[in-house]
Amino acid sequence: MKKVLILEDEVNIRSFVVINLRRAGYDAIEAGTGAQALERIRENPDIGVAILDIMLPDMDGFEVCRSIRANNKQIGIIMLTARTQEMDKVTGLMTGADDYVTKPFSPAELTARIDALYRRIGGDGNGDMDLLTQGPFTMNLRNRTLEKNDTKIRLTQVEFAIVKMFMQNPGRALSREDVLTEVWGPDYEGELKIVDVNIRRLRIKIEDDATKPKYITTVWGFGYKWGN
Ligand code: CA
Repeated sequence: MKKVLILEDEVNIRSFVVINLRRAGYDAIEAGTGAQALERIRENPDIGVAILDIMLPDMDGFEVCRSIRANNKQIGIIMLTARTQEMDKVTGLMTGADDYVTKPFSPAELTARIDALYRRIGGDGNGDMDLLTQGPFTMNLRNRTLEKNDTKIRLTQVEFAIVKMFMQNPGRALSREDVLTEVWGPDYEGELKIVDVNIRRLRIKIEDDATKPKYITTVWGFGYKWGN
């Protein structure tokens, strides 16, 4: 059974979540404090997803998130944020959360997010599948981060999708049409130029010298290639 941890100090909300998780077929494990949550995760290494409230009696949810992430890259983390605290979303994602759900939430919304996260992580924590490594670059597909020599590079969703496509096809010339279809979808009716514009911006972010690209190289009259 898929195990989900729910960290929430308010008993009413926690019980409500637990009941709904069980109804949706999950094994729900409860924690009322940050320390308890960390203990539960140590005791249950098969927990696939953790739902973390932010306002807690002993520490804040971001701290819990950071502690979990320090030893566990595979687990999916969803933060419970308050509607009024827009910054929580950003902070949560920065500390390693995968997703957030805003209070008040419906049970259907929460289980949909958990299901999606489970699909993304493959359910059984096969974490190595989530990492792509090429030269100085490491891409984490689950956290959607790209690092170059251990320094995080900030990418838009589109830029991330483009780099992912290149890293999955090293040395292969990809046409601009290929990139457009893969990244923007088959129904996109815009111009091919959008590919070039994004590549130009990406080169500034990832190349050592954007005027002499060596990671995303140009294949004249065709498209681009990852590497020389
Ligand atoms: Ca709380």
